[in-house]
Amino acid sequence: MRTVHGPTDHVVIVGAGLGGLSAALRLAGAGRRVTVIERESVPGGRAGLAEIDGFRFDTGPTVLTMPDLIADALACVGEELDDWLDLRRVEPAYRACFADGSRLDVIADVEVMAEQIGTVISPRDAAGYRRFVAFAERLYALERSDFIDRNLDGPLDLLRPSLARLVAMGGFRRLAPKVDSYFADERLRRIFTFQSMYAGRSPYDALAIYAVIAYMDCVAGVWFPVGGMHAVPVALAGAAEKHGVDIRYDTTATKVEMAGSRATAVHTSSGDRIAADVVVLNADLASAWDLLPVDSAPRRLGKLEYSPSCASLLAGSSLPDTGMAHHTIHFGKAWRETFRELISARLPATDPSLLVSVPTVTDPALAPAGKSSWYVLVPVPNLDGATDWDSMGPGYRDQIVKRLETLGYAGFGDAIEVESFTTPADWARRGMARGTPFSIAHSFGQTGPFRPSNLAFDNVVFAGTGTQPGVGVPMVLLSGRLAAERIVGPVR
Ligand SMILES: Cc1cc2nc3c(=O)[nH]c(=O)nc-3n(C[C@H](O)[C@H](O)[C@H](O)COP(=O)(O)OP(=O)(O)OC[C@H]3O[C@@H](n4cnc5c(N)ncnc54)[C@H](O)[C@@H]3O)c2cc1C
Repeated sequence: MRTVHGPTDHVVIVGAGLGGLSAALRLAGAGRRVTVIERESVPGGRAGLAEIDGFRFDTGPTVLTMPDLIADALACVGEELDDWLDLRRVEPAYRACFADGSRLDVIADVEVMAEQIGTVISPRDAAGYRRFVAFAERLYALERSDFIDRNLDGPLDLLRPSLARLVAMGGFRRLAPKVDSYFADERLRRIFTFQSMYAGRSPYDALAIYAVIAYMDCVAGVWFPVGGMHAVPVALAGAAEKHGVDIRYDTTATKVEMAGSRATAVHTSSGDRIAADVVVLNADLASAWDLLPVDSAPRRLGKLEYSPSCASLLAGSSLPDTGMAHHTIHFGKAWRETFRELISARLPATDPSLLVSVPTVTDPALAPAGKSSWYVLVPVPNLDGATDWDSMGPGYRDQIVKRLETLGYAGFGDAIEVESFTTPADWARRGMARGTPFSIAHSFGQTGPFRPSNLAFDNVVFAGTGTQPGVGVPMVLLSGRLAAERIVGPVR
């Protein structure tokens, strides 16, 4: 593994997102002096919080998987997860609702789920589900240590016995046909492939190795921290500060000063020059490179393929959440066509699937008594498409409200007391390239050692979605570990 050159005593991290905080904890645990520069007044970046008139909303991630990775980051400074977060298991992990009116609760307990599939769908699909779980568990075991949780300097690093096993298992086939081989029922095929959208790919283009995402949520399970997902970065930042990390909020990094091929300092909007032995950049990849010398970015940066984006509606509602699931996915009638519209034609889909999260189901304190907080997420194209979101946005918001009412949430529109609507144009204004919070897609050429490296110059390291291993809370927590390992070697 390549590591940074020279001294590593003082590390300056730009960004207190989950990737930056994960790196900070590991570096502090390894005895380094760590300064974090964060432009916002709170930690978390995309894992943000909006508070409107007594309603509290997560603005980014809502589906928390693999909480052991949070525990792992805290353990680097000797802290216990239970002392920092009150995590609740979300069961069902998802409620899946289909256009024909049927529904299925995705339970992350193999026996219970198999029984449900056997009763509601067919014994044959229940047997297929068990075989799929065995496949996905094995995928995860093979991928995690050799490919996901490891710094990869080049394709040769892939040459491990586990690669041959992944090939033999069909991991490099396409996801949709692989999952189809386990399930005859179209609904199950969707439930165990829609996660490829988290990686920015359609199930028909994504590699079957991405079935690990379905393993993480549908098999290993979904969690929710009391207080909302934003409690995760608050916990990580609190633990980091307790162990000496200096987090400077409301401070924007404006430039990384270089001396030849060495980063020597970070300049800030308040006019400070913070000398650094190593600089870790957690900002969105393109913005991170903007802090480095002009024309130093790798040429391929401008040619990377970005994931689709999303529109999100946060709504504080006077409706009660009785009988609802925490996360409900409403699948549209259309499926394959939706991916063509979103990814190939770069148009808003005519019949998109929606994620409706109502976190007050798990934590009622997120809304005033008897009310509910809603988070509706709709995949939409990124700004490579021609949609003018600033003019289209309000109409699109109305369409979402209308769609929810037809999906059975009667009176949803009238019951909204407060709301906030975010489109790709807003994500772009928050510094996310191509207006997508999901960064660059996980195509084969942008995965593993082919994803932009987390090491540049002698001593500049990247952490976060745009580098290895990739997008999503578990991956960026790991990216922080990989970044730290570039600086201090193994931190386990
Ligand atoms: C709507 C939405 C839904 C999502 N849903 C899920 C989900 O359900 N499950 C899941 O696992 N993942 C989900 N994700 C993805 C997940 O949130 C991200 O992958 C992850 O939070 C990104 O963390 P990060 O550390 O890479 O970046 P960020 O969170 O973007 O952190 C970067 C930080 O750098 C700061 N910064 C940038 N530039 C500067 C500068 N010049 N100076 C100082 N500070 C700077 C920013 O303010 C920010 O705090 C979702 C994301 C969004 C937005």
